[in-house]
Amino acid sequence: MAIIEVKQLTKVFGSEPERALPLLDQGWGKERIYKELRCTVGVNRVHFSIEPGEIFVIMGLSGSGKSTLVRLLNRLIEPTQGSILVHGKDITQMSQEQLRRVRRETMSMVFQKFALFPHRTVLENVEYGLEVQGAAKKERRDKALAALQLVELEAWGESYPEQLSGGMQQRVGLARALANDPDILLMDEAFSALDPLIRKDMQDELLSLQEKMKKTIVFITHDLDEALRIGDRIALMKDGVVVQIGTPEEIMINPANEYVERFVEDVD
Ligand code: ADP
Ligand code: MG
Repeated sequence: MAIIEVKQLTKVFGSEPERALPLLDQGWGKERIYKELRCTVGVNRVHFSIEPGEIFVIMGLSGSGKSTLVRLLNRLIEPTQGSILVHGKDITQMSQEQLRRVRRETMSMVFQKFALFPHRTVLENVEYGLEVQGAAKKERRDKALAALQLVELEAWGESYPEQLSGGMQQRVGLARALANDPDILLMDEAFSALDPLIRKDMQDELLSLQEKMKKTIVFITHDLDEALRIGDRIALMKDGVVVQIGTPEEIMINPANEYVERFVEDVD
């Protein structure tokens, strides 16, 4: 069974977003809808499913709807239409209480800005999410140490974030997301702020971590090389629409349209 299933998911930002829905059904574009209604289409009738253990990359240019989509996946923002099934349960129908539980037990998010607290040690930073969830001190510590070990930073627990390089800080961010042992990792441009070489290291690290952990990873990037390197499958977005989903090979060999073709032209 799919671990995540997204059905006809749409997000429109604005004061009366529902008014955009019939127009989207008629095939109106994002620009025309904005002109008519002053609503911005973030995601437009997106449909896909993700299998357990898969690295599913969502790729597209800036503004194509990637962040909106990944935030919908754990309901950090509310959809205008559509459903999101996680382990077969529709999270759009859940109460806040049920949703908190899914977030606590099932999904973690890694952000581009690692959002580490400067006055907390590395270990305390990793413990933070568990603390918010009300885990006991001993449990927090054990889980945080295990997560730091996974990203090979166990020797840095007592250091402060500013003493670490950018790549190491992002590994702390990753450890924090891994601390509650989620089934699903949501990573929004997690490596985009890193220097190219460090970024390659992080990609390798994620791939080797994945060998050990077998999480389901939804990985957002605007970088095609990165997408091809780490994705089992790639969903390509344009103006809120998923224009193609396929393995890296399928996308390279058989681009669905001219837009995808132009995207892959630049890759060597
Ligand atoms: P990406 O992550 O691919 O750069 P986003 O999901 O951030 O794209 O944005 C998709 C579209 O939705 C853009 O046109 C953006 O301006 C719009 N958008 C995103 N968040 C909001 C918001 N909170 N309010 C209004 N428009 C938004
Ligand atoms: Mg974004």
